[in-house]
Amino acid sequence: MPLRRSHLPDPYATLEVADPLEGLRLRLTLWLLPMGSVAALTAWSLSVVVGHLSFPDRYLLWPMALGFLGLEFYLWRNPQSIRLVWQIALGIIALYEILSVYYEAAYMLHQRNGLTPALLWFPMVYLMAFVLFRRRHALFFSVGYLGLGLLVGVVGVWQSPPLGVSAVNTAMQFTFSNLAYVLLLYIFAYLRRHYAQMHQLAHTDALTSTTNRRAMQARLEAELEWARRYNRPFALLLADLDHFKNVNDTYGHSVGDQVLREVALRLQQHLRESDTLARWGGEEFLVLAPETDLHQAQHLAWRLLEAVREAPMAGVPVTLSLGVACYREGDSVAALLSRADEAMYRAKAAGRNQVVLEEGLEDVIIPAHTTQPDAQ
Ligand code: GH3
Ligand code: MG
Ligand code: MG
Repeated sequence: MPLRRSHLPDPYATLEVADPLEGLRLRLTLWLLPMGSVAALTAWSLSVVVGHLSFPDRYLLWPMALGFLGLEFYLWRNPQSIRLVWQIALGIIALYEILSVYYEAAYMLHQRNGLTPALLWFPMVYLMAFVLFRRRHALFFSVGYLGLGLLVGVVGVWQSPPLGVSAVNTAMQFTFSNLAYVLLLYIFAYLRRHYAQMHQLAHTDALTSTTNRRAMQARLEAELEWARRYNRPFALLLADLDHFKNVNDTYGHSVGDQVLREVALRLQQHLRESDTLARWGGEEFLVLAPETDLHQAQHLAWRLLEAVREAPMAGVPVTLSLGVACYREGDSVAALLSRADEAMYRAKAAGRNQVVLEEGLEDVIIPAHTTQPDAQ
């Protein structure tokens, strides 16, 4: 069964920055909230100085400034509540903007060329919605918010003195530019998710959902670079299913596929988060184990060997032959792979169902009946 797109995890459902940047998002928010507070206070005090205060500015700006400061304090004490803080800020801004639209349409639009500066912040709500909600919900929310804004604007215009051509133009530009913002954000969110899925598909094996050969090659190069620079160990374990052709011949190709999927799953269960499991060839899996020396790699190989043979896969008893190689100074990926490959073939030659370490290191061949690599 090929991997379906819907089976993939979806780390890009929103425009929210990804988890590793959680700290950055928190820091950004801790900066944004006081900035919003200063912006609201500045607008309020300038309006007071000028002597003109609109209804929403008079009653909402200073509570908004205080609200943002309150949120700042709350977030500082409860960093895990960042989502809630964003939602409340979104609600506050949306309310202020909707009231500003009404006031502008009903009392100001007919007598000036342009809009109140308050409405420069109107699109802020879409941006926040696309950060907070999944793409579709963000779209519905944004369209609903814009629709409400326009409705309120129409009611305001209906109550206001007749508008001149310039005011009608302003209202039209406001409407269409805001529609364009929402549409662009939606397209951006869609493309971002689409590219993320394409990237994932290009790096994943379709049958087993493990890392594919191309992605593994890149991981190997990166690991080698790391090991070289910091003089750190890492190990490669090459596992080949024994007599797999017989499985296909006896049970059929689709059972063979199922066995491969189950083997991949079983291997994955015995690996660390930092290890990478790749389907390297037809019935060959490669494990990259960072920060793993020969001794640990030998134990890991043994665990994998046991894990696969201890219970049948898709009803078929299966065994592995494993070759293990560890990074040496001056190594290349090709040299390392060829040593793992050579060790794996020696495991085959020695009767299969066993682990063999690379040549040049102390050779340890573990017979199938042994339960501990150190036991012999
Ligand atoms: P050995 O113990 O020497 O490795 O024997 P083997 O039969 O496993 O090795 P051989 O290389 O002769 O055969 C590999 C088999 O793996 C043949 C091929 O049909 C099967 N195979 C490779 N890819 C797939 C796959 O995606 N699905 C299935 N069902 N079988 C596959
Ligand atoms: Mg094989
Ligand atoms: Mg093979």
